[in-house]
Amino acid sequence: MDASTTPTGIEVSNKDQVLEISWEDGHTSIFPLPGLRKNCPCVTCRGGHGSMGEFEPEAFFEENPMRIEIRNIEQVGNHAIKITWGDGHDSGMYQWETLRWLDPENHK
Ligand SMILES: [Zn+2]
Repeated sequence: MDASTTPTGIEVSNKDQVLEISWEDGHTSIFPLPGLRKNCPCVTCRGGHGSMGEFEPEAFFEENPMRIEIRNIEQVGNHAIKITWGDGHDSGMYQWETLRWLDPENHK
């Protein structure tokens, strides 16, 4: 694995509505939770195109974002995490590579 897609830390704040991932190359990705929920990579959320790779991401920053909480994060092998959302949705596997690519800084 590449340092840019190797996580060294992950922190969730439901209160601040962010998920922060620190990467081995020194970068930190800060994801607003509503945007991360909207960009869930699962087949259902991506409209049936079982895309595990790149897709056209939804905007991360909006004026009045909904509030959504993360209930649980589970590591899947060494390549992904599974997020259980406050709305009960839990089929999204967020691969480290996808997360690094999704970094809101890349999609302003
Ligand atoms: Zn989904």
